[in-house]
Amino acid sequence: MLIVMDRAATEVEVAGVVAAAERRGLRAHPIPGAQRTAIGLTGNRGAIDPAAFENLPGVLEVIKVSHPYKLVSREFHPQDSVVSVGGVPVGGTHVVVIAGPCAVESKEQTVTIARAVKELGADLLRGGAFKPRTSPYSFQGLGEEGLQILADAREATGLPVVTEVLDTAHVELVARYADCLQIGARNMQNFELLKRVGQAGRPVLLKRGMSATLEEFLLAAEYLMAEGNADVVLCERGVRTFTDHTRNTLDLSIVPAVERMSHLPIVVDPSHGTGRRDKVVPMSRASVAAGADGIAVEVHHKPEEALSDGPQALTPDMFAELMAQLRPIAVAVGRTV
Ligand code: PEP
Ligand code: MN
Repeated sequence: MLIVMDRAATEVEVAGVVAAAERRGLRAHPIPGAQRTAIGLTGNRGAIDPAAFENLPGVLEVIKVSHPYKLVSREFHPQDSVVSVGGVPVGGTHVVVIAGPCAVESKEQTVTIARAVKELGADLLRGGAFKPRTSPYSFQGLGEEGLQILADAREATGLPVVTEVLDTAHVELVARYADCLQIGARNMQNFELLKRVGQAGRPVLLKRGMSATLEEFLLAAEYLMAEGNADVVLCERGVRTFTDHTRNTLDLSIVPAVERMSHLPIVVDPSHGTGRRDKVVPMSRASVAAGADGIAVEVHHKPEEALSDGPQALTPDMFAELMAQLRPIAVAVGRTV
């Protein structure tokens, strides 16, 4: 942390800041300049709260120079992490494709979609058995029956399964069936859930909260890693803005931003990110071009009958077109899909 003193700050005020730092067990290093003095603070174990210094007499500005997260940071782990999800590496040169229905609706529906996406080149199967719905009257998911259907679809296709866990009470249950536990956007800052999922012994797909900053996103991942779980995959799924041509605004600039700050892989979900199926293919192309380690897309063989998120589901034909369009883009950025 760097404390910049006002031009008119007196020596007594500088000494006051030094004393306040020392009272907190920190070392203060005053750096006198031509115009003003700055004071560097070192010796902290965790993040220092800027508010402790901002209001001291003579202080102009408090600048954070290190980050509050450690385990997720590139400083801590310079090489890219590769997370194995049921044997599929996420974060290497291969761009992973996670595909499947929004919700598990029936065995016939899930196995049909799983077979179609597997045939067309998907690496992982997605599908929610526990659904976080805005309305209590919307389809809430099949619960454990849905998990069993996902296990059946894995058996039928060989695709490892990614599925959401909504509640601390269900972590062990979902972990028994899933290859990867998804934490949804609405739960990105459910800290008790993060801690329990961090202990569950399964890789995690952590979706960005719909108004989360990069720092908040990485701190949520830090919760998982602080519990000893190194297998964390981040997922950008769009944030809330004023636009009305899409459901959310897909923030692709977070892909290079994450890549700079963290070693964790990041995938992009253009289905929730746009909410409209006609936008999913172009934004998937853009995701791969931006350096995403994978994409997560919703696919339904009868989108008009889907119990959730039908308008954003690709048909199997559109998914085939998506795979065809991604291949040359992956090659152009030195990867495969
Ligand atoms: C999902 O992927 O099924 C989902 C509910 O997405 P999000 O948490 O990003 O809204
Ligand atoms: Mn959905």
